Amino acid sequence: MKLAVLISGIFASLLTAVAGEYDCDVVVIGGGSGGFGAALAAARLGLDVVLVDKADCLGGTSVRAGVNCWEMSVGATGIPFDLYKRLKRQPNAVSIYSFGRHGGTFDPKRETFRYPGGETVSDPGRRYLETLKRHVPHGEKNTPDYRREHWHGVPFEPEAMAKTMRTLLDETGHCRVLLNTAFVAAEASDGRVHSIQLSNGSHLRARYFVDATGDGAVCANVGCQMMFGQESRDRFNEPDAPETATQRINGVTLIYRATPVKEPRIEPLPEGIPAQCWWRKNFTGAQVNHYPNGDLNINMLPTMEGEEFMRLGYKAALAECQRRVRAHWHDWQTRIEEFRRYRLLWIAPALGVRESRRVVGEYVLTENDLLSGLSGQKHPDIICLADHMMDTHGGHSKHRGDLTEPYGVPYRCLIPRGFRNLLVACRAASFSSLAASSCRLSRTMMQMGQAAGTAAALAKGLNVDLPAVSADRLRAALRQQHVQLEYPMPDALQSYVEKE
Ligand SMILES: Cc1cc2nc3c(=O)[nH]c(=O)nc-3n(C[C@H](O)[C@H](O)[C@H](O)COP(=O)(O)OP(=O)(O)OC[C@H]3O[C@@H](n4cnc5c(N)ncnc54)[C@H](O)[C@@H]3O)c2cc1C
Repeated sequence: MKLAVLISGIFASLLTAVAGEYDCDVVVIGGGSGGFGAALAAARLGLDVVLVDKADCLGGTSVRAGVNCWEMSVGATGIPFDLYKRLKRQPNAVSIYSFGRHGGTFDPKRETFRYPGGETVSDPGRRYLETLKRHVPHGEKNTPDYRREHWHGVPFEPEAMAKTMRTLLDETGHCRVLLNTAFVAAEASDGRVHSIQLSNGSHLRARYFVDATGDGAVCANVGCQMMFGQESRDRFNEPDAPETATQRINGVTLIYRATPVKEPRIEPLPEGIPAQCWWRKNFTGAQVNHYPNGDLNINMLPTMEGEEFMRLGYKAALAECQRRVRAHWHDWQTRIEEFRRYRLLWIAPALGVRESRRVVGEYVLTENDLLSGLSGQKHPDIICLADHMMDTHGGHSKHRGDLTEPYGVPYRCLIPRGFRNLLVACRAASFSSLAASSCRLSRTMMQMGQAAGTAAALAKGLNVDLPAVSADRLRAALRQQHVQLEYPMPDALQSYVEKE
């Protein structure tokens, strides 16, 4: 195995050092949750894979944007479980949380003050299996006590996550990872991508391509039909969609981290940053997740509205959000004594962008899929399950809360309409805006990636295009990799996950 890692490292250095033309089985563009899942699945099945990311580490939003927590979600029994088991071997790399305090459910009989948002705390007695059971069964009430008992997520150290992803890829001996290397353009014709050009001047030819850039950069570049903003109600017959289409997208958040200190104090505000909130009436609350070592991961909800983000552009929005983070933290320390026992340790290097372009695929997942649930969906090609609530951060009038049943994502959502050797395995997949607001969780993206990598391996083995991969074969291959495709979870799969 060590030799395989060495050889893969040598290939990667050659590829970065020399600009030229290279061939491989599959190029995955973007090494976030979806791209990692795709690259690992394909490489494990023996394909020659190149994974390209413009950042300096793997993990994408879940690492660099500080989304250092997998929210509870059904179906994450494949590659995410492998990652979890590896992280668990490292001290303080990962834990499982339960709900702590929540401003919205403040009970003066039990608590001394109203928490400014929601809090989750490490709960050492919990098991991975418990993080796979979010949804509220029929007839059950979604009360605070229910949430405390049933909602568990997985916070992790971002550096450990990025390194462990890299280790798993290197161990396959079939994946070359190119970091600090951006996708620039693609050459495509007749529904087929031929090659892509990278920022280091090289061209990569491959039989199959996976767009895992988060915002569908490759798909947009080759002329796939894209969606942006909220679709009108009649486009997909979605009951909660607005009557007319809008350009609205979810707000963006710059996540930050605070660490305990011995001497409590209020940290001074950097010069030029006002103490009063200047972009809205009052400072927002935040979701606070405890890291395994007790630090706080603070996720303002949101730091900037989507419209302002679009108007400013990424660079100016990031700079403005950095100022807002400082002001937010100062306000919390000033008003709430508890936070004086922490200092601001880290501001995520990337903005957390919840929503951007999405591809129109061979099937578009809509709110109707989410409301039907798995038992009402008739798709023969479901490749992963999800059950997160529709969370548009205030973007649609009716808030439905939890879904009553998990739903499935069809393989056709990964196939850009009319394309034969390209898949999309990231939050830019073929989802309506409302479906994306539920489906985009990191582990769901990783499961979609696992399906994309597995589909590429099957396609190569059968010498066919990606849309021709048989749904039955793909689902059988995924079941072999311990991916949950049925609900409730089959007993054998449950026993497998219990052995963490
Ligand atoms: C603020 C916020 C809070 C969230 N909270 C949670 C949560 O609590 N739990 C949860 O599970 N999910 C949460 N989510 C959702 C989840 O984190 C994301 O939807 C998911 O991580 C997206 O994964 P992805 O693979 O689609 O994209 P990403 O992780 O964004 O990966 C895309 C990758 O592509 C690379 N890339 C982009 N363009 C190029 C290019 N041109 N060339 C090369 N590389 C490129 C990027 O560098 C990046 O690494 C949250 C999201 C946000 C923004």
